[in-house]
Amino acid sequence: MSDMPTLDDAADAQLVAAHLAGDGRALGAIYDRSGDALYDTAAAMMRYRDDAADVMQDVFVTASGHMGELRDPDRLRAWLFAILRNEVYRRPGNSRRQVAIDVARHRGETTLAPTLTGDPSTVEFQQLARRVRGAGAGLTERDQLVAEFSLRRGLTGNDLADALGVMPQQCYGLVHRMRQHTQRSLSAYCVARTGRDACPELNELLLGWNEELSTLVSKRVARHIDDCEVCRSTRSTSAPFALFGAAPVLTAPPGVRERVLGAAHHELDTTPYGFDPTNGFPDVIRYARRTKIWVVLTAIALLVSIGTTIYVLAADDQDTPSPPAGSATPSSGETQTIGSDADRRSVSALGVDPDHPRTVVTQR
Ligand SMILES: [Zn+2]
Repeated sequence: MSDMPTLDDAADAQLVAAHLAGDGRALGAIYDRSGDALYDTAAAMMRYRDDAADVMQDVFVTASGHMGELRDPDRLRAWLFAILRNEVYRRPGNSRRQVAIDVARHRGETTLAPTLTGDPSTVEFQQLARRVRGAGAGLTERDQLVAEFSLRRGLTGNDLADALGVMPQQCYGLVHRMRQHTQRSLSAYCVARTGRDACPELNELLLGWNEELSTLVSKRVARHIDDCEVCRSTRSTSAPFALFGAAPVLTAPPGVRERVLGAAHHELDTTPYGFDPTNGFPDVIRYARRTKIWVVLTAIALLVSIGTTIYVLAADDQDTPSPPAGSATPSSGETQTIGSDADRRSVSALGVDPDHPRTVVTQR
């Protein structure tokens, strides 16, 4: 057991050492330090909010079993977020989320005060910040994760790269792309929410608006802003990324801490992904899943192709003999059709088109 009288002030590396030495309090101290931030990210990323607690449990079960592999224990926080990333990615169906989630409080959750200076204590500010963050659910899963990790968690450099599971030199591009994808629609939303008094034309444009940021409203308002000096001025004072980062932190419902730590101390670790031996960070499972889908689709296309060939050959045997080229042509034609259909299905299933991120950004 550790000799430390308390773990509250211990550095992350000390907590890691204490856990590896068998100090049963260490994991609890790690949870108390990082649990709110991890839960807040999980709650925003999961399509079903109840899954956020399950994600937390799997993060801590995995962390408990693999902490000894983390080469630099001072990087514990980034490492936990890297595990969280994998736990989000491996939830079936989560990557195809089409509807925005409500980042308002859910059953039993509480919120911490926002951290942005200005007027963050006002209801209006918190509502706007919450809705701007909720609009993140309309982004691609990766853009949303980049926004969560960089804007809300403040991860940078190697920590951001390893938490996202990319090379450090890719990070700048990912953050830049996320900002490009989000700035126009989130700015439009901010202007729509705050600029109606200043611009009668905008007010008229938004008559009957239910305050949800649909793609249509976003485009209309953005176009109006381009042509309106008043609204351009309003836009220049809006800070959508700061609002995204300052939205109230969601904390887990009561009982989640006990459940998570109980599981982490007693459940067997069955983590389905490996850890990089050079730094101990988890391997990215997103690509493994994509590969699996490709393998399955290719196998299906191949089986159908073989079946078609056998059918055509059998038909040729029974019917009047036809030239060999006649049997080969429909067979290869069928294969191409199925292949391209499979391509479309897989591309659609993966949502990999970087030019068309999800743009449904409504929020209840
Ligand atoms: Zn205007």
